[in-house]
Amino acid sequence: MMVLEVLNLGLKLNILGNKKDYVCKFASCYGYEDIDKFLDESDIITFEFEQGNEDAMIATFDMGKLYPNYKSVWLKIERDREKEFLASKGLPVPRFKIAENGSEALKIIKDEFNGTAVVKRTKGGYDGKGQIYIKNNNFIDQLKTINDRLVIEEFVDFDYECSVIVVRGARDFFNYPVSFNYNREGILIYNYGKLEDKGEVKIAKDLTKYLDYRGTMGVEFFIKDGKVMINEFSPRVHNSGHYTLNSSFTSQFENHLRAISNMSLGSTETLNFFGMVNILGKTDVQSELLKYGTVYWYGKENSNPRRKVGHINIIGSSIEDVKTKIDSLISQLYPDNLESIRII
Ligand code: AMP
Repeated sequence: MMVLEVLNLGLKLNILGNKKDYVCKFASCYGYEDIDKFLDESDIITFEFEQGNEDAMIATFDMGKLYPNYKSVWLKIERDREKEFLASKGLPVPRFKIAENGSEALKIIKDEFNGTAVVKRTKGGYDGKGQIYIKNNNFIDQLKTINDRLVIEEFVDFDYECSVIVVRGARDFFNYPVSFNYNREGILIYNYGKLEDKGEVKIAKDLTKYLDYRGTMGVEFFIKDGKVMINEFSPRVHNSGHYTLNSSFTSQFENHLRAISNMSLGSTETLNFFGMVNILGKTDVQSELLKYGTVYWYGKENSNPRRKVGHINIIGSSIEDVKTKIDSLISQLYPDNLESIRII
């Protein structure tokens, strides 16, 4: 999606990565063996996934070409860094502790979390991967065998989850509206908005300032009894901001490119009510789904049940209208999982 926006902005695109990627139809593609040439021939470098090749990120940052900066990436490589950073800046996060291994985690959960907590591996976790929910001492044997550093976090019995997409350029800071996010087993299934801003935008703005950030960022929150807590931030365009492709004057992808290329940001005005449903684990979708909105198909070759292979953007005249459309889409996309996906 970023590639298509690059073309619209008249920029030239080089891609470092797996050469068989289909985006190579639109760009010059370099394999990792050609990294020096890639670095030489590119003026501004960004990424679509922060857990990418770390050496390439560092080399790029050292050359002054990486946006967002390496600090934002570094914090995301290990979750404990992110949590400690947010807390050190006084930003609201769920209560957490760091353990050096599973046995230490068990002791902390028992002594300080009353036997119930969410344990997160510090490395490689996204879309709910690397998480264990400990409730009334379940999964204790599994935890005992872990020999890595872990984040232990209070289980937040949240009222709802939401996120905000923000973009910080050389001169401006803009935000999109807050969206309601529905995750199941750690993966975003659908989102919609606009929701009332309960302080999320200010928190996200402060975070971008503390990081001297440049580009689009997604910040995810838990809301509990009116209290806003950051779950995590993503130093990149974000799945919960895909709706901006159809509902906002300038999409999160275009604004990311504008921000890192020293251009003025485009308006983030979002005129209608919006929704988005992820397509997970399918090899195709029925064409009748097209009547609900715009289908984006990513052209991924392999699929597993949890893999995001596309999404559908919806607009509506009210939140209720959007939710009705989401309900219809979910019934058709996931008829076997309806009991576990709620429309709220
Ligand atoms: P993450 O990979 O950290 O974004 O977590 C994925 C999802 O797991 C979140 O969107 C929540 O639905 C759930 N989750 C993560 N941490 C907690 C927590 N401390 N309490 C309750 N649910 C959580």
